[in-house]
This record gives sequence, structure tokens and C-alpha cells, in this order.
Amino acid sequence: MTARRDWRRHKAHGGATMAALSRLYGGPRRREGLRRDLLPAPEQFYAERLKLLPGRGPWRSASCCFHADKTPSLRVNVETGAFRCFGCGAKGRDVVAFTEKVHDVGFVDAARLLGAWGTL
Ligand SMILES: [Zn+2]
Repeated sequence: MTARRDWRRHKAHGGATMAALSRLYGGPRRREGLRRDLLPAPEQFYAERLKLLPGRGPWRSASCCFHADKTPSLRVNVETGAFRCFGCGAKGRDVVAFTEKVHDVGFVDAARLLGAWGTL
């Protein structure tokens, strides 16, 4: 019983409880990050920004928007959002990477532009 009494005394004399900390800092720590569930579907995303050539499978060709492209050198994957240009070497693994490159911004700003940055 002694140990229990000591613990109570400690708490009463200024040991901050989790509840008090929560009130002070606005609840449990919230973490912000990329909400992949809020990202646009790659197929629609690219269809709105590029002139995709019809094709079978997930990879489609388009004129590259990162260099002066005479032939459709850019390949985009409409399932994963990955892209790769065989003319200028631009590449990335998803629509966030594409947005970073188009707007010359970092990861967080690209995610924000896509409306996919938020509380995890
Ligand atoms: Zn290119």
C-alpha cells in the first residue's frame, strides 16, 4: 500500500497526467503527411494534363511536358502514376512526383496542391 500512496502523492503534487497534457497540447499528438487515399486517380489526373495516346495496359504514351517533345517520348502508368520520359529523362513514381516537377515545388507543397496533405 505504501507504493500506491506514494504514486498518488506524486500525481497530486504536479506530476502532469496524460489528460492534463492532452488539454495543454490539444489532444494526442497529430501527425501530418501525405494522404494517399486523397490523391487523384492517376488515369484521370494524366488525362486532364496530357494528350494520352490510346493503348493497352497501364503504360500510355504522351508528348512530354518537361522538354520540347516532337514525338511522344513520355510514358505514364495510369494505374500507379509513375512516369518516365525517354527524351529528357524525367521520371517519378507517382502523381506527387509529377506535380513536384511540373510546379517545381517540394513534396509537401505538391501534396498540398493535390489536396492530399492532411492529418494522418
Ligand atoms: Zn521529356
